Amino acid sequence: MDKTRDSKTWSIREIIPENHPRRESLLIREKLVEAMENGVLVPQGLIAHGRGECFDYLIGEKTQPFAERAIEAASAMLLLAKYPVISVNGNMAALVAKDIVKLAEELNAKIEVNLFYRDIDRERAIAEVLYEAGAKEVLGVGEDASATIPELFSERRRVSPRGIFIADVVLLGLEDGDRTQALVNIGKKVIAIDLNPLSRTAQSATITIVDNIIRVFPRLVEKIRKLKSYERGKLEEILTSFNNKKNLGEALLFISERLKELSKTL
Ligand code: ATP
Repeated sequence: MDKTRDSKTWSIREIIPENHPRRESLLIREKLVEAMENGVLVPQGLIAHGRGECFDYLIGEKTQPFAERAIEAASAMLLLAKYPVISVNGNMAALVAKDIVKLAEELNAKIEVNLFYRDIDRERAIAEVLYEAGAKEVLGVGEDASATIPELFSERRRVSPRGIFIADVVLLGLEDGDRTQALVNIGKKVIAIDLNPLSRTAQSATITIVDNIIRVFPRLVEKIRKLKSYERGKLEEILTSFNNKKNLGEALLFISERLKELSKTL
C-alpha cells in the first residue's frame, strides 16, 4: 500500500470538518482520486461516480425501502445460485474491496475483474487491491479472461472461463447497459447495483438495487448471513414475490414524491 496515499487521506480527513454536510461524500471522492492515481480507476470512472452522486442526492443518501427489498431478493438469489460470480471494476475495488471479499467468502463465490476499459496494468492493480483486502483468488486478469461473451465487441467481451462465462448469477455494479444486456441475453441472472433507476443497466438487470454500493455491500453481507439459515423453499418464496419492474417504479415514485415534498419547503 502506498504510504503517501494513506497520509494524504488522513490530512484530508482533518481538513474537512466533522460536521460538514458533505463530509462522507468528499472523503469518497478522495478515495476515488487516489484510486485513479494508483492506476485502479480511469478518469471515466470519476464521471460515472458523479452521475451516481446525483441520484444518491435524489434518494436522500439513504438506503430506502425499495433498495432493502431488492437486497433481500438479491441475497435469496445469490444463496440459491449454483455458481455466483462477483464482477469487479475500478470503482468497486476502490470503494468496497473488503466487503467484496467478505461477500465472496459467505457465498463461496468467485471474484472476477471485468472492465469496460481493459488493460493489463489496471487489471493487475485491481487484483492487487482485492488481494490486499484478503481475496484468495481473483479471476479475469490477463490470459485468464480468455472466453468471450457474444454480441459485444473488442476487449469488452472477454471474461474468465472459470468465472462469468460459467456463472448462473452475476453480481455487478456501475456497469454499462450493453454488457448487462449481453449477460442477460446469454442466460445469466444479473444483480445490478446502480443508483440510477433509469439507466439501461437498471432496466435490463434481473434484480436492480437502486442504492450506493458503499451502503449495499455491508447490507448484502448481513442479509446473506441471516438468510443462510432459511430453507430453499423460503428463499424461492422471497424471490418469486419480488418484481423488479415494480420495484424500479417505486424508486422513481419515491424520487418524484420526495422532490414534490422538498419543493414545498422552499
Ligand atoms: P447505462 O449504459 O446502463 O444506461 P450509464 O451509461 O449511465 O448507464 P455508466 O456511466 O457506465 O453507465 O455507469 C455508471 C452508473 O453507475 C450510473 O448509472 C451511476 O448512476 C451508477 N453509479 C455511480 N456511482 C455509484 C455508486 N457509488 N453506487 C451505485 N451506483 C453508482
